[in-house]
Amino acid sequence: ATPPGYRGRFAPSPTGDLHPGSLLAAFGSWLLARHAGGEWWLRVEDLDPPREVAGAAERQLATLAALGLHPDAPVVRQSDRHALYAAALERLLDDGLAFACHCTRSELAATGGIHRACVARSRRRQPAIRLRVPEASIVTFDDLIQGPQRQDVADDVGDFVLRRADGLWAYQLAVVVDDAEQGITDVVRGADLLDSTGRQILLQRALGLPVPRHAHLPLVTDATGRKLSKSEGAAPVGPGAVRASLVEAWRALGQDPEALAGAGDPPGLLALAAARFDPARIPVALPPRVQTMR
Ligand code: GLU
Repeated sequence: ATPPGYRGRFAPSPTGDLHPGSLLAAFGSWLLARHAGGEWWLRVEDLDPPREVAGAAERQLATLAALGLHPDAPVVRQSDRHALYAAALERLLDDGLAFACHCTRSELAATGGIHRACVARSRRRQPAIRLRVPEASIVTFDDLIQGPQRQDVADDVGDFVLRRADGLWAYQLAVVVDDAEQGITDVVRGADLLDSTGRQILLQRALGLPVPRHAHLPLVTDATGRKLSKSEGAAPVGPGAVRASLVEAWRALGQDPEALAGAGDPPGLLALAAARFDPARIPVALPPRVQTMR
């Protein structure tokens, strides 16, 4: 099969309901995919049960459906895909690119939590597995929205975790395995994940996987400038406020509000938005958001 020209995705973790910040990532990734004439897929990133909220995944999917943001392929859940992550980890271990690490958080405190060499004084029952990050592992990439990026992953992050000592898969490993396995060409997400991208590119290289294009959307922050977060109970996108939520996200993406004038509810609104969307208008950052009382 020929690889798609453009396949994007939205990959929420079910740690709470969708709020204006996650809606921006959903709508922004959908718009960029439609603008490119490409596909848009949905993936539930449910690999961290302790952080998950019961029913959140179902509510997120229901909200996206109510918004008219329908994926072009069946929804995939990371919790069904342990074998894929295990196979990737096995390859990295076999190739000597990953190693078992018995260090504890407190042992790594002296180096600011950054792992450069094992300093463990005792063995853990189940060690973490880390990717070996040699000195001067410098990653550069061009972000469609944030511009040219450069990160020295050895200096900034050090050897990073692929499977935690408690047995849970690290986000970095799972996202890289899934994006490749699903043939994702374009990773579009919030700018809070900009500094994960260097780690992901190193992993893609280590696994011999293609490196997708990246676009990191501006973050929606509260009135104090902090990122809205599901786990901290940001006001969810209500089912009754579908149209208003889309219009608010449209504005936050730097788009001309006039462009949607006269559009009714989704799907008419979405069709018009897809036709009028201009990626060049997406801002790098947003001013703090004044919460509207509902
Ligand atoms: N699951 C991640 C989150 O909800 C996003 C992963 C990604 O887009 O790469 O923050």
